[in-house]
Amino acid sequence: MDLGLNNKTVLVAAASQGLGKAIAEGFTAEGAKVFTCSRHTPIQCDLTNPEQIRQLLETIGPIDVLVTNAGGPKPGTFSAISDADWEATFQLTFMSAIHLIRGVLPHMQQQHWGRIICLTSTSVKQPLDNLITSNAIRAAVANLAKSLANEYGQDGITVNVVAPGMFETDRLQKLIQSRADASGYMFDEEKDILRRTIPVRRFGDPAELAATVVFLASEPGGYINGVSLAVDGGLTKSV
Ligand code: NAD
Repeated sequence: MDLGLNNKTVLVAAASQGLGKAIAEGFTAEGAKVFTCSRHTPIQCDLTNPEQIRQLLETIGPIDVLVTNAGGPKPGTFSAISDADWEATFQLTFMSAIHLIRGVLPHMQQQHWGRIICLTSTSVKQPLDNLITSNAIRAAVANLAKSLANEYGQDGITVNVVAPGMFETDRLQKLIQSRADASGYMFDEEKDILRRTIPVRRFGDPAELAATVVFLASEPGGYINGVSLAVDGGLTKSV
């Protein structure tokens, strides 16, 4: 299938490792011109800093496909999260998406074609234990994306959310460690407990998530707009 992504300019945010890196590799394999950023890549950008985002977008120029992504928010239950933690999560998870999207929309509108994919978490469909910041603030990102899909569909721009379940990355290792610290189980025991909650009984390969994102950005995927798609091996219990 020709995905129509050859020579499209793609920005994948927060892509020095993990899911972002896999997504960038997925687009590169389709012949796209891929730009990545993180705090430690050749194109440096702290996504909590609006001025650095502005400079990043100016450096890259017109962007056809944007994948919003950032580091994961601090784990914890309600009593463990301070006002400063809430503010930090809002800046990292929500405002980074606002600043990136605002920067790419004018060109997409002008050329009457664009794809925006917001990477979130299955927490947008079903709250996750010990991740209250993700549960609350990613839901705002998902509803932002749905609103933008309504508003900008007429401009040839699709906006979708991809909600990963549990993929083998550093972030997952840290979350398992945090759960093990709280439960008293060993790391491997906690990992196995989590694995068995997934109907397909395995963690995801980041390349599988990348394939989903690449298809949503593709020409044949152009009629998919405003969805929030869990890629989670069946983990989420709601539809
Ligand atoms: P990761 O921790 O492996 O990678 C995070 C990336 O974000 C890194 O490249 C890091 O440098 C970058 N980053 C962090 N803070 C940044 C900042 N302020 N500015 C710029 N870059 C920054 O995480 P991952 O597993 O690749 O997950 C990516 C996103 O998806 C995270 O938000 C995570 O919470 C979410 N998620 C991951 C999973 C999973 O199973 N891995 C599941 C659900 C949701």
